[in-house]
Amino acid sequence: ATPISIMVATGRGAQAGVLVREAKALERLAAVDTLVIDKTGTLTEGKPALTGLKPAQGFTDQKLLEAAAALEAGSEHPLASAILAAAEERGVKPAKISGFEAVTGQGVRGKLGRKTVLLGNAALMSEAGIDIGALEQEAEARRADGETVIYFAEGRKAAGFLAMSDPIKPTSGEAVAALHKLGLKIVMATGDAEPTARAVGKALGIDEIRAGMTPADKQELVETLRSKGAVVAMAGDGINDAPALAQADVGIAMGTGTDIAMESAGLTLLRGDLRGVVAGVKLARATLRNIK
Ligand code: ADP
Ligand code: MG
Repeated sequence: ATPISIMVATGRGAQAGVLVREAKALERLAAVDTLVIDKTGTLTEGKPALTGLKPAQGFTDQKLLEAAAALEAGSEHPLASAILAAAEERGVKPAKISGFEAVTGQGVRGKLGRKTVLLGNAALMSEAGIDIGALEQEAEARRADGETVIYFAEGRKAAGFLAMSDPIKPTSGEAVAALHKLGLKIVMATGDAEPTARAVGKALGIDEIRAGMTPADKQELVETLRSKGAVVAMAGDGINDAPALAQADVGIAMGTGTDIAMESAGLTLLRGDLRGVVAGVKLARATLRNIK
């Protein structure tokens, strides 16, 4: 495309809520045939609310929430705000935690007194050698309903789980349907658990689901698809999406997401409205046609 037509397209993109950081990205969007897309904060609002607390035997709701809120106080993850809001609402004071550490794409870790405490997904627990045991069945049932469940462990024992539900953005369904009409294949890549991912993916008509993915897994997925000849756009909002955004032919960040995501992407969707991807693809294709 000529510099002039790209400039015009950039202006039109801005009108449609697509901020162009890299002109080439808009150009490349015309040829994209596969969209890899994050779930939390991208397809969903990224504003989860706590829907349930399940303390293991010998534990209480109160103790679970005190510890979870303390661990999440230092985290920027959307799940953290859900837990902190619930604690505040219920007048639960966070416990005193030291040595806080975020494990990107898995959870958080710290020390409560002399015991190590962990809050996060099954991978975080299994890497620490913690058996989820009796909690698993109920956790899976909630996941099948589309809820996100995170485990809490104290010392070497699983001490409970917290369940959260994150509504799908009202514009996601429309955007997925329109992208299908434009011939794109849509692959969800999420760090969340498989049943949760399936429930959300099914509601939206997503073609393929990849769950339990670390940031490196997401990047590798994009790389593999590209090496097989696909032209790949990646849409995401988090630190966990940044490597995949940079790896894609076109990186698309949510304007509602983290700065690192936006810095790793050629395009940013204002307000995180996925219909911007649809507008972008149409615009890019029209721009290319005009100069031929
Ligand atoms: P997504 O790919 O859906 O945006 P992430 O990669 O950010 O999800 O997180 C993957 C999973 O890791 C979450 O579903 C959750 O189980 C766990 N996790 C990540 N960060 C946190 C956190 N701060 N607190 C608890 N769990 C977390
Ligand atoms: Mg996300």
